[in-house]
Amino acid sequence: MKDSYLNFVNSPFGARLARSLGLPKPEVLHRYCADRPEFDGLIAIGAGREPRLLDALANLVTSIGMTSVAHESAALWVPLANRHGLMTGRFEPAESGSHGKLAALLFDASGIEDSSQLEPLHSFFHDTLRSLGKCGRIIVLGRPPEACASPRQWTAQRALEGLTRSLGKEARRGITANLIYVEQGAEHGIEATLRFFLSPRSAYVSGQVVRIGVHTGADALPAFDWIQPLAGRRAVVTGAARGIGASIASVLAAEGAHVIGIDIPTAREALDSTMRQLNGTALAFDIAAPEAPAQIAAALDEQGVNIVVHNAGITKDKTIAKMTDAAWQSVIDINLSAQERIDDALLAAGILRDGGRIIGVSSISGIAGNLGQTNYATSKAGVIGRVQSMAPHLRARGITINAVAPGFIETQMTAKIPLTIREAGRRMNSMSQGGQPVDVAQAIAWLAHPGSAGVSGQIVRVCGQSLIGA
Ligand code: NAD
Repeated sequence: MKDSYLNFVNSPFGARLARSLGLPKPEVLHRYCADRPEFDGLIAIGAGREPRLLDALANLVTSIGMTSVAHESAALWVPLANRHGLMTGRFEPAESGSHGKLAALLFDASGIEDSSQLEPLHSFFHDTLRSLGKCGRIIVLGRPPEACASPRQWTAQRALEGLTRSLGKEARRGITANLIYVEQGAEHGIEATLRFFLSPRSAYVSGQVVRIGVHTGADALPAFDWIQPLAGRRAVVTGAARGIGASIASVLAAEGAHVIGIDIPTAREALDSTMRQLNGTALAFDIAAPEAPAQIAAALDEQGVNIVVHNAGITKDKTIAKMTDAAWQSVIDINLSAQERIDDALLAAGILRDGGRIIGVSSISGIAGNLGQTNYATSKAGVIGRVQSMAPHLRARGITINAVAPGFIETQMTAKIPLTIREAGRRMNSMSQGGQPVDVAQAIAWLAHPGSAGVSGQIVRVCGQSLIGA
């Protein structure tokens, strides 16, 4: 659906009017486009004491072809960084001016062990934030607090969350800010995640905290290339006929996967048309039908599957006093129980291959609750519970399970919301706009990536840092 306000305030007249009336001016977000370079420009690097992730950062900067400059907070560590070919110059605030020459700010806080050592974060962001361009990226790297050796270290690392989320709210101009906690020993596994958070692919993901852990089979990641990382993999996407599901199918196919799209028989025509364009396979099944898990397993049996995306979902909104039993039951069944039954069938028979990916689609309603959505929020909170409870069980097989929790995304589902509530939903986030289906799809593609093997059991919001449930 079109966001007329965003288009208006980005016209010359609209921009003037918005400025004079003090209205919010959402930025036109830079999104990934195959025709434009994905990574471009300068990264400023800052660091706290004894940064432990410089090796990994050096690998990243080299492999994506960006240039780095060291802020004085990192200057002490420059000899170490130089050894790895990182930090080609010193960041000079005066030189870079206020027009935003920087594409990204990266701060390695992994060595901070005490709250008294947090000061370099202030000096780095104080000096650099105004030089960060529109739609720039802020990434803070730390250690998972719960794995820290001492209460002081845990405290200091946990403090990074408040900083990162506040930066996302202050920066505006389409800038995202995210925190990545890297477990000790997982340093070599951060590239896919860092690429995602630096790329225009993460345009609508902000204020998130992601943990990268050591994973089973870490020494033997399957081979992949960065252009088509999903080549040779097969991905099932439910609800693929339209909306977010069609976008997920299209992004996974663009990354090389063979997509098997599932949707209800009445959506057959749209499903066929989407799958034809992607050279995919269409399966017209109602996922909530009792026979569906066995039918899906039979259809996939021969070649197996590597990625399962549980996207199909419905709403049947009413306050609980007015909600019928049928409205409650169908939402729980389609949005939650069907996923459990399908996963059980695919896992039991080994149809979902070892090293595979399961990705659920939750919602910020499942985090915050929502008036008129007791059934929907229950189902979407259940998706979160499922991710958290299943992750440890799937670990030995190298299968990861995660969920995305979209905020307000422009689709036929949100077009049904009454105008005033819809407008509020759109604006109540750091980007002052709704997301696009492709924003959810890109986050799913990152979780499906072979290089995301260390990311499991997590819920990542794709909500432009919505105030709801934050
Ligand atoms: P949509 O209604 O446009 O598409 C949903 C698709 O799922 C449709 O093609 C539909 O036919 C299919 N589907 C429904 N029931 C099915 C069943 N029983 N079997 C097979 N397929 C079935 O919705 P959307 O906005 O694209 O949402 C996709 C997912 O994202 C849903 O899980 C939704 O809850 C979630 N989500 C959406 C938003 C948003 O703002 N649009 C926000 C949060 C979460």
